[in-house]
Amino acid sequence: CGIIGYVGHEQVAPILLQGLRRMEYRGYDSAGVAICSAQKGLQVKKTKGRIQALSDLIHGGSDLEGTVGIGHTRWATHGEPSNVNAHPHVSESGKFALVHNGIIENYMEIKEALQKKGVQFTSDTDSEVVAQLLEYFYQESGNMLEAVSRVLGRIQGSYGLAILCEEDPDTMITARKDSPLILGYGDGFNFVASDVTAMIQYTRDISYMEDGEIAVLTRDGIQVYNSLLEPVEKQHSYVDWEI
Ligand code: GLU
Repeated sequence: CGIIGYVGHEQVAPILLQGLRRMEYRGYDSAGVAICSAQKGLQVKKTKGRIQALSDLIHGGSDLEGTVGIGHTRWATHGEPSNVNAHPHVSESGKFALVHNGIIENYMEIKEALQKKGVQFTSDTDSEVVAQLLEYFYQESGNMLEAVSRVLGRIQGSYGLAILCEEDPDTMITARKDSPLILGYGDGFNFVASDVTAMIQYTRDISYMEDGEIAVLTRDGIQVYNSLLEPVEKQHSYVDWEI
């Protein structure tokens, strides 16, 4: 139901927890984070229940080290609220972690096709197919952006996605269709969130992702592409209201 992502120089866990708290008003049944660092790889923590339960699980963030991460509050649509069904979802080898808002309408068909190829699923969600399919395509090309683009060509439904890959720990990829995602631009850091309130403390320089767009976030900048992977110039807005 709510997504936040940050790539920067500060420890990311407390930033994610705070951003998730700001989106609590949207309602949710579970919460989780994934943090990526070159030293520790992908660290994923998630739980059914309140953000306080997630905060307790990671001791306010001090358990997790890294400056690149994604967070999620879930409003279950496919699969009961549980620890396993909470986001982030991780691909079979543990290479990819992602959070998803929305519904993948054709998830069952994709899940069955991947299961026939021997892929093991751990959750009952529609979202997990995105992580598994991504790893499947990534194995063929070794190119994260291309693999994401292929996945988007295969899935139907609505999505806001934020994706991390252990093999490229300084990069985050996001994509949207019929689910809001906002990019936030900073000096040495960048954000994505489904709600501007989650990042307004850090930056008021934002742009709205459009349907079909893919964004690649690093510390130095955000590059947005259309569905043909052609670069797109984004128009920035300045958020001048107070919360
Ligand atoms: N359909 C996904 C699930 O049930 C995402 C729900 C959401 O947007 O929070 O896990």
